[in-house]
Amino acid sequence: MTENKLYYVCKYTPLELLAGFGTACERLDPAPASFDCADECAHPNLCGYGKAVIEEVEARQLRALLLTDCCDVMRRVYDVLKARGTLDFLCLLPLPHSAGAAECALFADALERLAEQWAVFSGRSFDAQAAVRAWEAGRREAAEAAVGGPHICLTGAHGGALVRDLAASRFCIPVSDETCTGRRELTPRVTAVPDAQAFFPAYASALLGQARPCMRMLSGGNSAPEEGAVGVIFHTVKFCDYYSFAYHDLRQREEVPLLKIETDCTPQSTGQLRTRLDAFAETLGAGAAKRAPAGGGSARYAAGVDSGSTSTDAVVMDAQRRILGSAILPTGAGAAAGAERALAQALAQAGLARSDLDAVITTGYGRETIGLSDSSVTEITCHARGAHFLRPTARTVIDIGGQDSKVIRIDENGAVRNFIMNDKCAAGTGRFLDMMARTLELSLEEMSALGLQWQHEVNISSMCTVFAESEVVSLVASNTPAADIIHGLNRAVAGKTAALARRLGGEPEYVMTGGVAQNEGVVRALSEKLGSEVRVPPEAQLCGAIGAALIALGE
Ligand code: ADP
Repeated sequence: MTENKLYYVCKYTPLELLAGFGTACERLDPAPASFDCADECAHPNLCGYGKAVIEEVEARQLRALLLTDCCDVMRRVYDVLKARGTLDFLCLLPLPHSAGAAECALFADALERLAEQWAVFSGRSFDAQAAVRAWEAGRREAAEAAVGGPHICLTGAHGGALVRDLAASRFCIPVSDETCTGRRELTPRVTAVPDAQAFFPAYASALLGQARPCMRMLSGGNSAPEEGAVGVIFHTVKFCDYYSFAYHDLRQREEVPLLKIETDCTPQSTGQLRTRLDAFAETLGAGAAKRAPAGGGSARYAAGVDSGSTSTDAVVMDAQRRILGSAILPTGAGAAAGAERALAQALAQAGLARSDLDAVITTGYGRETIGLSDSSVTEITCHARGAHFLRPTARTVIDIGGQDSKVIRIDENGAVRNFIMNDKCAAGTGRFLDMMARTLELSLEEMSALGLQWQHEVNISSMCTVFAESEVVSLVASNTPAADIIHGLNRAVAGKTAALARRLGGEPEYVMTGGVAQNEGVVRALSEKLGSEVRVPPEAQLCGAIGAALIALGE
């Protein structure tokens, strides 16, 4: 049992009104490891945030919760929690969509009813002067917390400490949390203490007319990032479609670079989230990670090491940008040991010792943990740089590795213009093809070669690895030739990748990198889907490591 506190979620919660009762309030910031309780008592399509609130109420055995009816999910959460009956106080505050006169009058009424309910539950009475003092104090705090100067605006749906703290740690400039649970700034400033009667209308209009409105408010979707915002991170929660219009508005603006991220409010996909945030920070030149390589532009020899989910690749280059040695090894169980081995092999091929290297840059999923160097750069930036080096005419890079697929638009200098990643599941990645090769009892090489000999189109309708495997098993049972099945699989992967490329506005020349580029059937199917030839440089699998080595050389 927790202490006698009122918990809340939304930035339109009347905290000052509650301060008038001497009530302590705490915002829920849930990031549960799993949704065991919510999966048992709520619909599976409830958004991750809704589920996280239910988990938090259960795990902390909360007694009093105030919700707003800001979206369908919050109404469902209210229904579920009411049915469970574990809370002593549960209220759903009706929240209008704008701060017009009629809406303010309605909201003032709702606040008065809430005050009556809370007075009965808490046994306390309302002191309007205390509420106004809290209002003034809140205004002062908001003014002190406001970030002036260059900053990143984090907007969209609730991200909580998980997203806010991670974002703050990846940028060297402040991140302003303007999501639906973030920055709360009442307006206008109160000048005189209203009596209890005058308090409610004045307070309702100040609360609804917040300076940084939630995007579900009619004024919120159009609110431009504030002056000083050099980038906008738009956070959305899995299964939330509430803010899609607001996102569309932001996309149309194009005056400030925009990154869309999605979480399910659990810490599960923090690794991929970090890569997206780092890549965005790199494109803005606002990354928090150490950058300057030891060579600083004058390196004689440098190395790039790409620690991926499946393979670890290393490249050693000289100042003339010649590849002196390279290695592609399975990452294996230990990413750090795999990286040491790959670098040692590339050095041996180059006839150099570790001490000859002036700089090493690491990239890939394990870039920060393999310990070979202090400087790491995301695989997004490295693949862009590497692809530009291998084919200067490249404008869209398609990288399909073992764990995720990425599409990166680059400019004529190899700088990242925009990128998109698919990493939610194995669908459309190398892992999907690996599993199918196992089902067909073929090696990857055999599967790639056999897929080119197809005769008839076969549709694999499911991209879920488990269901696709059942489809493959049924096709094998009905004597469908393996070549046709493989072609169907290749087309499925190509279709998913082409959709990503179209979403990003990809344009020729398309260059494919990563391990799956060795599967010619996928490359051909992708060229067909995109209506433009997809080029594969011979060093495609080394592309990320080449980009890292170039950056290590100080380019
Ligand atoms: P990561 O960067 O995640 O380690 P890679 O870029 O090494 O991934 O790509 C790994 C994927 O490449 C494998 O999952 C596999 O599907 C594919 N792959 C690797 N070698 C071959 C090959 N010889 N033929 C076809 N596909 C291959």
